[in-house]
Parts: sequence; C-alpha cells; structure tokens
Amino acid sequence: MPELPEVETYRRYIESTSMHRPIVRAEARHPLIVRPFQARTVSTAVEGSAFVRSYRHGKNLFLELSRGRWLTWHFGMSGEPVFFERMSDEPPYDRFLFTFENGHLAFSDPRMLGRIGVTASPEEYVRKKKLGPDVLTLTKADFMRILERSRGATKKVLMDQHKMAGVGNLYSDEALFQSGIDPRAPVQCLGGGDMDRLYHNVRKVLRRSIERRGDLSQLPRTYLLRHRSRGERCPKCGGDLLAVPLGGRTSYFCPHCQREGGT
Ligand SMILES: [Zn+2]
Repeated sequence: MPELPEVETYRRYIESTSMHRPIVRAEARHPLIVRPFQARTVSTAVEGSAFVRSYRHGKNLFLELSRGRWLTWHFGMSGEPVFFERMSDEPPYDRFLFTFENGHLAFSDPRMLGRIGVTASPEEYVRKKKLGPDVLTLTKADFMRILERSRGATKKVLMDQHKMAGVGNLYSDEALFQSGIDPRAPVQCLGGGDMDRLYHNVRKVLRRSIERRGDLSQLPRTYLLRHRSRGERCPKCGGDLLAVPLGGRTSYFCPHCQREGGT
C-alpha cells in the first residue's frame, strides 16, 4: 500500500510530467473511483483547468487547479499515476483519465481502493478527514507529545492517520525494527530513549525510501523491509522473524532484537 515515500514519489512524478498542461478532458473510467462524488462533478471541476501546484499531506496528494479548487488523490492499496502519450499505451486498470493536448495521465488502480475528488483546499480536506499532522513535519516534542497522550500497541499509534499522517504497515515495521521496539509494546511503557530513537528512525526510513523512489528493493540489506516475508531471517541477528496480526494487518519483527520497551 502506498505510504508517505511512495506518494511523495508520485507527487514528484506528476510534477515532472503533468503540470501546467491544459486539461482537455477528465473522465472517470470507473464511477466508483470518485465516490462519494458524481463523476460529472469531478470532471466539471477539472476540465479546462491545469495543475498548477502539488502538495502532499501524509498519504494524500493534492493538485491545485488553475481555475480554483484542488483535486484530491488517495492511492488506496495499489494505485499509481501513469503518464503516456498514445491511447494505445493506456494501462489496463485505468480508473481515471486526464487528457492533455499532448499526452494523458491515468490513475492505474487494479484493486479500485483509491479515490479521486475535489476540495476547496488541502487544509479543508485534512480538517474534514480529521487527519493528524504530516509525520515529516513533526518536531521531536510534537512526536513525543502524541505518543505520551496515546494508549495501546506502539505500532497502532504510528499507523493511526488521525494522530500522525503518512506511516503505514511497512514503514512502521521498519522504524520499530531499527529502534529495537516490539510492535506490540504498549506505547505508555516506552521510555524517553525509546521515543527519541523512534522519532529519528521514522524520519530516517521515510527519507531513505523517498531517495530510493519508494523502491523497497533499493533499500539497504540491513533493513527489515528487504527480508519481510514468512520464513525469512533477521538481518541483524540471523534469528527467525515473527509474523503476528496487529490492527488487521500482519506485523513482522525480530523477537530477539525488539523488546517490549522501557529502555
Ligand atoms: Zn534479530
């Protein structure tokens, strides 16, 4: 699922391919991709405009339209933007198609869990969705305050988009691994040293992945994400990794290297 580094990579991709081009046509190729909007509402807001500015908040992308309002874009589980020149190159799972004078931008989304819509401003969208601050904008004091006011498994707090926006299942596993913290550790049991390491490691892994354009195979071999599947071994100690269900997703961690907090 696209998390902050992937969405930042998509933002840069759209910046490099699709800005300041008049949008001749904006068409929902599947009506559900714009829910709860009507396809006509989104098309009318977009057609005749151009994307003039991009902005990312957590896993959400916003594109300012030259005639006012912003397009909102959430990538769901499997979505990605694809720019192409000829309609014969349209990707098979195109769900929303922007047509410029020369070229097209498609929202390819095989699982159809993404969303495209319109809003008055990114601030308005963030407020309505009750999203927390973008995780990369947090100071250490902000981050520690959020953790101190939370209860429950540390990983669930990191993934809660209402508390901080941008981290999902994969990068929370990596940051916890690098911090030596068990994903199930109650957040209220973390010491100051734990929270300090976690703050720095969340930022480090997100930034490193942005540098590698969200391509997990390009991350260092010492990262958990290079070994995160059943039967794999911990890149630090060589022990067996454990997979446990947490918050409806599967968490991977090393029971030897990751402790339940309090250090
Ligand atoms: Zn280990």
